[in-house]
Amino acid sequence: MSQDCNHDCQSCQEDCQERSFLAPMNKDSHIKKVIGVVSGKGGVGKSSITSLLAVLKQRQGYQCAILDGDITGPSIAKTFGVEGTQIYSNGESIIPAKSLEGIRIMSTNLLLNDSEEPVVWRGPILAGMIKQFWSDVQWGDVDYMFVDMPPGTGDVPLTIFQSLPLDGIVIVTSPQELVSMIVSKAVNMARTMNIPILGIVENMSYVQCPDCEKKIFVFGKSHLQDVAKKYDLHILGQLPLDSELTQLSDMGMIENYSSKWLDAFEKEIEFF
Ligand code: ADP
Repeated sequence: MSQDCNHDCQSCQEDCQERSFLAPMNKDSHIKKVIGVVSGKGGVGKSSITSLLAVLKQRQGYQCAILDGDITGPSIAKTFGVEGTQIYSNGESIIPAKSLEGIRIMSTNLLLNDSEEPVVWRGPILAGMIKQFWSDVQWGDVDYMFVDMPPGTGDVPLTIFQSLPLDGIVIVTSPQELVSMIVSKAVNMARTMNIPILGIVENMSYVQCPDCEKKIFVFGKSHLQDVAKKYDLHILGQLPLDSELTQLSDMGMIENYSSKWLDAFEKEIEFF
């Protein structure tokens, strides 16, 4: 692999081992930037941050897409209120669903008859599914594709790292994760694969009093600064627990969410 590898095999002449792992892009997809969103474990808000990243960039006029790679815990379709009836095949490729604001979405629960049905597939099938979401879906012209990665640093996330031409990743953590080894594993995985880490987000960091706006750090003092310094990571945000975000996500209306902290977060991701 070239020292300057940007994982864009189409523009590179080098014959390297990395090339064989990359899944081919659908002939009718033109995707400018692919950003993976990772976390050490489930439940820290990885899918919520993936959704908000797409919402923010779409609001700025970019064409965005979300590939829901969290095959066993898919939540993106529900968060945007899209359903399986919205996807179809044109005989050659799958046409993804579109949110109200036009974000293209592909997720396993758009393919299941019952979206509550648990997905109990083994690793190679999970990884194969994500590659198919990349290769068999006609994404069209996309400025930013956000990939909601499977949680952890096991076999499936590793395969995705190798299969998709990721331009960078965002690490999502919770205050509790920051005191464990989980962040270092995600950092090591990305650095071993030569994928730039765009930054780290601490989600569910605090709650804010609706009356006096005081921030209450329910999990104690944050370790974000220390961890960012230790691994040389850019801090993208320290985001609060906000019940309005949960409610809008549950109603499939995350695109309606706005808040002061989201405005600040939007500025932090301008360089993407
Ligand atoms: P993950 O993808 O890491 O498993 P999710 O994004 O699905 O996590 O979040 C788990 C739950 O927590 C969801 O119900 C989501 O709406 C909620 N949630 C995530 N982040 C926040 C937040 N900052 N404030 C309030 N609820 C949140």
